[in-house]
This record gives sequence, structure tokens and C-alpha cells, in this order.
Amino acid sequence: MLEKAWLSRELKNTKIMCEACSQACVLSEGEYGICGVRKVENGELRLLVYGLVAAVNVDPVEKKPMFHFLPKTKTFSLGTVGCNLSCSFCQNHEISQYTKENDNKITGQELSSESIVDLAIKNNSSSVSYTYNEPIVFFEYTYDTAKLAHEKGLKNIYVTSGYETHKAIDLLTPYIDAMNIDIKSFSDEFYKEICGARLKPVLQTLKYAHEKGIWVEITTLLIPGKNDSDEEIRDIARFIASIDTSIPWHLSAFHPTYKMLDIPRTPESTLVRAYKIAQQAGLKYVYIGNVDNEDFESTYCANCKKRVINRSGNIGQFVNNELDENGVCPYCSYKLEGIWK
Ligand code: SF4
Repeated sequence: MLEKAWLSRELKNTKIMCEACSQACVLSEGEYGICGVRKVENGELRLLVYGLVAAVNVDPVEKKPMFHFLPKTKTFSLGTVGCNLSCSFCQNHEISQYTKENDNKITGQELSSESIVDLAIKNNSSSVSYTYNEPIVFFEYTYDTAKLAHEKGLKNIYVTSGYETHKAIDLLTPYIDAMNIDIKSFSDEFYKEICGARLKPVLQTLKYAHEKGIWVEITTLLIPGKNDSDEEIRDIARFIASIDTSIPWHLSAFHPTYKMLDIPRTPESTLVRAYKIAQQAGLKYVYIGNVDNEDFESTYCANCKKRVINRSGNIGQFVNNELDENGVCPYCSYKLEGIWK
């Protein structure tokens, strides 16, 4: 199914500018965007992966990761091929970089928005997640699906690198309930050299999505020697705190993959160090991931400090939520920030 990529505009010189992400591709007839899945054909920008999924799973919502969003529920998760970034440590590079590494070839299994919503309901999912690759590159498919999902009482989650334009965020706001946004580093050089992107648009997206009322959680993969200095961790933590100290921050362990095979796994001590720095910066909800340590994966009330959601085992395997349906702490009645019902 080939659909018009309508989040775009025609320029005077017969070129078309894609308005989905901050790469701001300006394309002539026959050209592909950086993501490899948006192309000008017959004078229109087309979304080549509309209705074509490359990965589908029913996951615990904790796996996104989303820890303050409908705990212990399932989320129907899907992704297509294509990505607007080119991170050399990408854990899903088989699909995200597929088009770039296969002469612009497109692949996927047909799945309409209606089928996605039906399957989500049949599989007892409370939400649909647009994940695995960068969802903004298949914006129109996510938009149509999210709208339909809302009509059927499901929520929607974007798991993203935060490269959306403000225009895209404006359009997504009525339908996307939550976003998990990566801050991959606090260095523009890192973004340029390792990800083929820039830092500033990510920070702007994060701020804007939060202002618009979308529930935001943040993930940072800590890579030894690349983004794990005390200074850089503190800079990210202070930035998050400057927006809202109740934004959850997930600190995740790197393992060697794709083009970054020469760097070792992140030691747990690095994650614990980062966790403490984040707390010192005033963040209320910090988590470490990709290691089995329930003390650092559990949620503590920001007021009385008691453990109120215990998480153990594989991610999402054992979740014991003591909060009531409004997210209220049973020990001190503080209402924890998040979306709980
Ligand atoms: S979504 Fe793709 S085509 Fe559009 S601006 Fe981003 S990289 Fe370019």
C-alpha cells in the first residue's frame, strides 16, 4: 500500500520538503529521504511503508520502557523498516537500517490500521506502541492507527529518538498519550558522528512534547567511554530537571552490537553511579535497565520514599503495584506522576 506522505509541503522550485522530522529533507522527483521510506513519486511525497510492518509483538509496557504508564499491562508493539538516524550502536539495525543497506528495498508484512487495533484488543493490550524503528518516519501510518486505537479505547505510545518537528507533535498530541524519548548523549559531536543527527532538535522535541501534555519518559543508553562521564550524566539530569523533576529517566546498559563491537558492556557500577548523580540533580524517578537489580528498577514514592511498585525478574515479568488506580501512594497519599488508568 502506497500512501501520500501528507506531512510535507511543495516548494516553489518543484521540490518537496518533508515536514515529519528535523532532517527536513528537500527532495526532487525520484529521491528518497534520509530515512529511506519517504520518496517523491509523480510529484508527491509517498510513504513506502504505509501498512507494512517489519516487526510485531505483544510486550509488557515496562519493556518500552514505560514505568509510569498503565503498569502491568500489555502493549501491542509494531515497527516498519527505515530510520532517520544511523546510530552505530542500534539494537534494531536489521530493520532500522534495512533500506539503506539493501539498495532502497522495502519489506514488511501487510497489516492495516484496523487489523492492528483488532489484534491489540484480541491480545488484551491496553495500548499500541510505535517502536522498534523510529515511528516519525512512518508518521501517516501511526497517525491513522493511533486515531482508530483511541476510538476503540486504547492508548498510544511513541518510542522515539525525539526528532519530530513541532508540526508533527501538534498533529500527534490528540492521539499519542505517551512518549519514551532517547537522549543519546548531551554532546552535539556524539549525535553528528555516531547518529547522523544533532542534539538541539531532540531537546526541543522533548520540551515541546512535555509542554503539550504528552506523558514523557526518557531513556539513555550509557556507552563506556562515549557518554558516561559524571559531567555528561549531570548535564542530562539537570536538563531533564529543568523541564520537570517528575519525568522518569531510564539509564540503560549498552552491549556490543552492529558497528560498535569494540566497546565492552556497561558495568552495573556505571549505571548505579549515574542513578546517584540523577537523584542528586533532583530527579524523582530514576531507573536502571538491562541489568537484573530490582532495587533500581522499582518505583519509590517521591514523598515518603516507600517502595510502591516492585519490579523483578525479566522486564515486566513480576510487577507488584501498590498504587491505587489514580497513582496514589498507600502510605502517604501522595499522587505519583504518570498515567495510571
Ligand atoms: S522523515 Fe524521512 S524524509 Fe522526512 S525529513 Fe525525516 S528523514 Fe527526511
